[in-house]
Amino acid sequence: MDLHLHRISNTTAAKKVEWPPLPGRASGEHAHWQALANRLACPECRKPLQPVPALNPKTLHCRHCNHFYPINQGIPQLIRPSRRDEIARFNALYDAIRLKEGWANPLPGYYEALPFRDLSGKNVRLWQCRARSFQILQKWLQKRFGDRPVQILDAGAGSGWMSQRLGARYSVIAIDLNAGPHGLAAFPPQQRCFYAVQGELN
Ligand SMILES: [Zn+2]
Repeated sequence: MDLHLHRISNTTAAKKVEWPPLPGRASGEHAHWQALANRLACPECRKPLQPVPALNPKTLHCRHCNHFYPINQGIPQLIRPSRRDEIARFNALYDAIRLKEGWANPLPGYYEALPFRDLSGKNVRLWQCRARSFQILQKWLQKRFGDRPVQILDAGAGSGWMSQRLGARYSVIAIDLNAGPHGLAAFPPQQRCFYAVQGELN
């Protein structure tokens, strides 16, 4: 994927490469979908996708196999039509288990605070460990790439907490099977600092 640096923070004077605005931003939304569609492919036949501006919810269309892929909450749902029901059932079950285990939480601000604070108090020590790992990753990225534009793919992003942190500085696309409130939609489009795509990792 050919994503460019979309720097939002002002931590250093890095070069900024222009890129269409993120979903939910007031201007340039159609340009965003067109640019993003150019970098995605139909999960059914691997051919290019095109946005269909006349449809609501917004939709990507494959002219080759004539499948439609809705965009909900700014997240293209690139799931093969034959797999949608099964994946919806899996995600509902997965959310229930994650909520029970304390890895998902409906508390306001829960995902925004990760990894540095676990507002649920259920996995504090594990999140402290993850926070240290994340800080090591941040240092490595800075040392390895400096102020050069960096494109990051967060495969299996879950709620996208890491993409949200990295998206403040780098261009990040997050892919996950779960696009629900404890998956990629954990951050609403207006707050999201990364590009989110629902898809299978195969
Ligand atoms: Zn197709």
